[in-house]
Amino acid sequence: MTNNKGLLIVVSGPSGAGKGTICKALLEKHDDLFISVSATTRQPRAGEVDGVNYHFITKEDFIKRVEQKDFLEYAEVYGNYYGTPKSRVEEMIDSGKNVILEIDIQGALKVKENFKEGVFIFILPPSMEELKQRIIKRGSETPESLMRRFKSAYQEINYISKYNYAVVNDVVDVAVSKVEGIITAEKCRVDRIKDTILDSKEGLIHEQLYD
Ligand code: 5GP
Repeated sequence: MTNNKGLLIVVSGPSGAGKGTICKALLEKHDDLFISVSATTRQPRAGEVDGVNYHFITKEDFIKRVEQKDFLEYAEVYGNYYGTPKSRVEEMIDSGKNVILEIDIQGALKVKENFKEGVFIFILPPSMEELKQRIIKRGSETPESLMRRFKSAYQEINYISKYNYAVVNDVVDVAVSKVEGIITAEKCRVDRIKDTILDSKEGLIHEQLYD
């Protein structure tokens, strides 16, 4: 007896915290999860596939889609635009899938304004030193971009109070099971399921009295 609509789960945190790794692991384990593929004007990194990691589009196309109100939210992050396609997300939630948005903090705050029932999870690195090492190890950033991402991380962590949950990503499997726990608990929240429960109770009484 559950609400048939899926959850909107927003996962944010500084670059290098391991959001992507956690989301990928969750997706492999759960058929009822859907991860939204964002549109971006950033250049693909080695190994990134259009339509899988992102929809890589031009700035002109991005602006056009903003004007058409195609995005649930969008933001400029490190000099590039990123946006969440709205219709697909709504479609998936309505079909009962739990939808994950792996987006930056500005985007998360915009989603929160319009989607208060969303679940907002902040992923943290075990330490700032570890965060730095992870970004360096990734090897995909120029020294300037690396510095920019690292500096932003310091500021971004201040926004943690806007989120509902914080998960430290030290051991990936542990972090994944914490997020699974959050999803399970959220699905059981009375404010999400009470209408379904009360409706089915009414239905039962009706059945007993009249059928
Ligand atoms: P990256 O360039 O490392 O793939 O992503 C840079 C940042 O943009 C990350 O924090 C990532 O979560 C965020 N991001 C990815 N897609 C979106 C989106 O659709 N909207 C917003 N606001 N941020 C996004």
